[in-house]
Amino acid sequence: MMITLLKTSLPPIYCEYPRLEMQMKIALFPSVAVGCGPHFHTLEKPAIHIENGRFVYIGSRADAPRFEANETVEGDHLVAMPGLINTHTHAAMTLLRGYADDLPLEVWLQTKIWPFEANLHSDDVYWGTMLACAEMIRGGTTTFCDMYFHENRGVEAALKTGMRMCPGAVLLGFLPGSDEKIARSREFVHDWVGHDLITPFLAPHSLYTCDESQWRKIIAIAREENAIITTHASETQREVADVTEKWGQSPIKTLQKLGALGGHLLAAHCVFTDEADRDIMASNPFFVAHNPQSNLKLASGIAPIEDYLWRGIGVGLGPDGTASNNNLDMWEEMRLAATLHKSTTHDATMVSAQQALKMATIEGARCLGLESEIGTLEEGKRADLVLVDFDKPHLYPRHNVTSHLVYAAEASDVHSTIVNGKFLFRDGQYQTLDVREVCHECNTRGQSLAEKANAGASG
Ligand SMILES: [Zn+2]
Repeated sequence: MMITLLKTSLPPIYCEYPRLEMQMKIALFPSVAVGCGPHFHTLEKPAIHIENGRFVYIGSRADAPRFEANETVEGDHLVAMPGLINTHTHAAMTLLRGYADDLPLEVWLQTKIWPFEANLHSDDVYWGTMLACAEMIRGGTTTFCDMYFHENRGVEAALKTGMRMCPGAVLLGFLPGSDEKIARSREFVHDWVGHDLITPFLAPHSLYTCDESQWRKIIAIAREENAIITTHASETQREVADVTEKWGQSPIKTLQKLGALGGHLLAAHCVFTDEADRDIMASNPFFVAHNPQSNLKLASGIAPIEDYLWRGIGVGLGPDGTASNNNLDMWEEMRLAATLHKSTTHDATMVSAQQALKMATIEGARCLGLESEIGTLEEGKRADLVLVDFDKPHLYPRHNVTSHLVYAAEASDVHSTIVNGKFLFRDGQYQTLDVREVCHECNTRGQSLAEKANAGASG
């Protein structure tokens, strides 16, 4: 299938983040805080102080230093936790939500998804990412790792909403103009490195969509720029067979042979891996973005996460794009991560609630190389935090807060979302975006793109 080259991105709108708001001093007094400090412990009746975008105090109220807050939130019904970290998504695919379901992966991609995406304008990516941010902020996600086209427009949307983002300019090597796109990837990393909210990645789509020369160029840029590579690997049995035929060995072994595992690599899926693959994964800075719902919906299979955890391989969670999920709800991903692997192993002790919560927070941060900055409620770290409203029938009685967060809570229980010390969502109200405008704009754009794709298919 011929895919037209997507229109070029606009130049980056660098650092529009309102610096003055960074001076906000916030005091929080929830009933409980989970995921505190390097040991991820739970604190009862804590005080949390936020200043200049960072946690400056997390501890007992009795020992709290004097703090003149501009804003205070308190309530016995509130539980504080680290912001959720989405390690794999294609944010602007919100425009494709519900456009194509119930098809095998290859047919779904080649006859529905790629023809739809061939007509995407950079403005579509901006609005689609805005919709994704609205959904994620509402559900307590504070950071997302994105892999999509028109990457600077996605970044523009994330900055407008105040979310933290690890964007990667996706490279589909069969599209014309790929060499220029690889060169632009280096510029993209240069443009954004060191930003408070944006950590640029390199994002070759996969071994089956990029060739050896393209991979080698991307790996060289990653080494020179000290950037993380994120990609898809071992998602389906067919992919493993195709890669083995094209490259002579499995995707993981191919990545090692190419030299992609010498530095930090984040691979989405990793559903089909053999013993030798797993040895390679465990002995390299290799991280897995586990996408349980997407793997179920596309009938890919269930990744052996319990074995990866046992081997010490870093695992985070992601919903993947909304065409294969079909939402960006990290609570569903946590619950699936904590239940699926019990079923496949017939062992109810596999992947505990605590492990699932860590995958969605501190382990996700490790996957993105950001564990020194986010992932726990810890003094000195960036203030990315969620308040969850526990005054709901499905969250009583409160025997175990971590259990409730993983097995019973829902995205709609999120009361407030804070990123970098700034409220993006407060007591059920968006603070940085007009959600009605975003929904209306995306509805119009989604319908228009579907009509164009359908006209192309029938023409
Ligand atoms: Zn993906």
